[in-house]
Amino acid sequence: HQKIAYEPYRKNFYVEVPELAKMTLEEVNVLRLELEGITVKGKGCPKPIKTWVQCGTSMKVLNALKKHSYEKPTPIQTQAIPAIMSGRDLIGIAKTGSGKTIAFLLPMFRHILDQRPLEEGEGPIAVIMTPTRELALQITKECKKFSKSLSLRVVCVYGGTGISEQIAELKRGAEIIVCTPGRMIDMLGANSGLYVLVHYALGTYHPELVDLCVFQVMRIVDNIRPDRQTVMFSATFPRAMEALARRILAKPIEVQVGGRSVVCSDVEQHVIVIEEDKKFLKLLEILGHYQEKGSVIIFVDKQEHADALLKDLMKASYPCMSLHGGIDQYDRDSIINDFKNGACRLMVATSVAARGLDVKQLILVVNYNCPNHYEDYVHRAGRTGRAGNKGYAYTFITEEQVRYAGDIIKALELSGSIVPPDLEGLWATFKDQQKAEGKSIKSSSGFSGKGFKFDETEHALAN
Ligand code: ADP
Repeated sequence: HQKIAYEPYRKNFYVEVPELAKMTLEEVNVLRLELEGITVKGKGCPKPIKTWVQCGTSMKVLNALKKHSYEKPTPIQTQAIPAIMSGRDLIGIAKTGSGKTIAFLLPMFRHILDQRPLEEGEGPIAVIMTPTRELALQITKECKKFSKSLSLRVVCVYGGTGISEQIAELKRGAEIIVCTPGRMIDMLGANSGLYVLVHYALGTYHPELVDLCVFQVMRIVDNIRPDRQTVMFSATFPRAMEALARRILAKPIEVQVGGRSVVCSDVEQHVIVIEEDKKFLKLLEILGHYQEKGSVIIFVDKQEHADALLKDLMKASYPCMSLHGGIDQYDRDSIINDFKNGACRLMVATSVAARGLDVKQLILVVNYNCPNHYEDYVHRAGRTGRAGNKGYAYTFITEEQVRYAGDIIKALELSGSIVPPDLEGLWATFKDQQKAEGKSIKSSSGFSGKGFKFDETEHALAN
């Protein structure tokens, strides 16, 4: 590297828009929780962006995003994009399918377009390493959705096919290489004339690098200018990857999605401490209030309860459907369809059956049976209040179910809702009793975080 006169280059492109600048730390914390529970480690991480425009990308990229119906950034994208755009090294952890590719592609394009055009045989400017051919091809495909309109050339370099064609392609010049490290190293050694891989800017590394031999990755990274920008993305972050990260990243920001989610602030939450035999009347009262306004889901804990409640509601002249695991897939699809298109606006369901259900006009969720852990509560309440609409969630809890109260209180607190005094009282009494009996109190999901702070135990949980 000492022998090469690297051209200076710019890393920091990020300009925070006023809308984000005026957000308080507390608001940012709530937003991160709402974005599927983003946690951030490392100093100086920008706030998450809310729209594509806020990331400061070009009109051409914005058009391509629109063309492919990428309406808004996914949680990992909201946080990783501004961090990478601001020039920082980054570790991004988010589950498969969460949009990690675009999270590094957009800043990468911004970076490349800031460089002078490549002369013949020069390049690449960015290297994307992946553990498998399939992933390399997939990333190349995603990249090409944008690169054509930006006049950038992408070459996918992977083993198992002829090497000479790939070398020839590289020699014609390419701004971006997507590669598996094994083949890349072969090419470096094949008298290809490719010595210094990246003259100008950044190396980008994509998922599950831990599967790779660290040595291979290091061989390639050592060919990249030392002041490169480096980012690493993965679905998990095992120890072996930590070691690699320490060697190739400089003062990275660590972004993790899926630590712990929270009920969106557009959902007004009510929790009612009630006796079992009073629930049905209360339900009718609530339905009377909301049913005209939109669709409603009533959650129960078991299939039998779904069918029983369905019968009772029908008797009370409420047309309704039930959705649970005991119904065969074909019928389930048609029930979901009827519910989505508004043909039927009242549904009794179990949590599992309603997982991921996205119905815009859903105004009300009633937890007829109290959810028995934090995630289930958040997931159920999250069926409403979608796409910026207001929603309501009512939860019935009996005194016998007091052991679930801790998680529900936590969910209310984390989303900034008021905890009803009778619920709080019930939980306090329960805690005192447990203490007196010498039992330790743990909410069912083992949640031990406090307020907006993510402590060590919680971080471990998130992994
Ligand atoms: P990961 O790398 O996290 O496994 P991918 O980057 O492959 O996930 O993205 C998964 C899918 O989601 C891809 O089909 C991609 O086109 C799509 N996708 C990515 N970002 C968005 C977005 N913001 N909106 C809608 N779809 C997206």
